Amino acid sequence: MTPQLTFLGAAGTVTGSKFLLESNGARVLLECGLFQGAKSLQERNWTPPVQASTLQAVLLSHAHIDHSGYLPRLVRDGFDGSIFCSPATADLIGIMLPDAARLSEEEAEFRNRTGATRHQPALPLFTEADATRALGLVRRVAFGDAFTPAPGVTARLSMSGHILGASVVQVTTAGRRLVYSGDLGRYGVAVMRDPDPVSEADTLVIESTYGNRLHPSDDGRPILVEAVQRAVSRRGILLVPAFAVGRTQELLFLIAELETAGQIPRLDVYLDSPMAAAANAIFSRPNLPAMPPFYTTPGYAASPPHLIQNAAPSVTAGINRGGSLWIDSRRAIERDFITKEHQPCENAFCWPSLPPRQPA
Ligand SMILES: [Zn+2]
Repeated sequence: MTPQLTFLGAAGTVTGSKFLLESNGARVLLECGLFQGAKSLQERNWTPPVQASTLQAVLLSHAHIDHSGYLPRLVRDGFDGSIFCSPATADLIGIMLPDAARLSEEEAEFRNRTGATRHQPALPLFTEADATRALGLVRRVAFGDAFTPAPGVTARLSMSGHILGASVVQVTTAGRRLVYSGDLGRYGVAVMRDPDPVSEADTLVIESTYGNRLHPSDDGRPILVEAVQRAVSRRGILLVPAFAVGRTQELLFLIAELETAGQIPRLDVYLDSPMAAAANAIFSRPNLPAMPPFYTTPGYAASPPHLIQNAAPSVTAGINRGGSLWIDSRRAIERDFITKEHQPCENAFCWPSLPPRQPA
């Protein structure tokens, strides 16, 4: 039988990545993402995309919730096969899936408490116990190692350069090779190695969220310098919304580098995100294969040494010290600092609007 690929998400929208591969009785799910965004999209999470108990395995390209966040629900619905991913992806979903579960449980609790629900009672999509059970099914595979997720199916992960642990997934079955890109990283990003080239494929599935745009050729340093200087001149606070996993670490690295080079003044940097703080600890482990070698070289700081984690600044902190930086992942949706074509004025907020310090 010719292998069949069915798109169960990330088609007509950019979240909810799930692709069902069927080949001679093998049933493998590539990605297990949550639909995110508009209510109509989130409602799709409540319709099972596939009979969970019939799957032998799930292959994950990377940890972001739109690629992994449906795993606890799949397990709740009866999946008990293996979940294959890179070691760093396993570490990251170890903090992200329980967090997603807590959010789901808190939302259900809130709706029941306030009556903001049509359901009696409102239920979480999944619980922390479901997330824990999903994590118990994870099998770590190193980049380049061949593995067999289901009979007649072999697979291999290579580096995609998107976030720590992110992989291009190559699957061979019935004499055909399927390459699934996952989210592809850019070349020359400070905190990631470049994507590995892929030599051949019979079928190629590529994520194309930003496929209709050209990325700017620089990495955002000039934008960051300009935004920080503007905040300092106003004696304000620069609030930078940034995704907790990946973007925050890149931003912290750039801030440390720009401070060391004297291109921005040394400011208090507040990281207001427990999730990002947990991800920092994973990104900072020595000798990770996904990181450029210099990242963990002594003398290079992965984040500013005066970083204050899990805290937000008071407005007076900015006034007193001549400016501070505040990175907040909960405001990240659609306002990510560097992804939006380098438009800092729209995407980074600077306040209060005190008059600039007058020269003495
Ligand atoms: Zn991603």
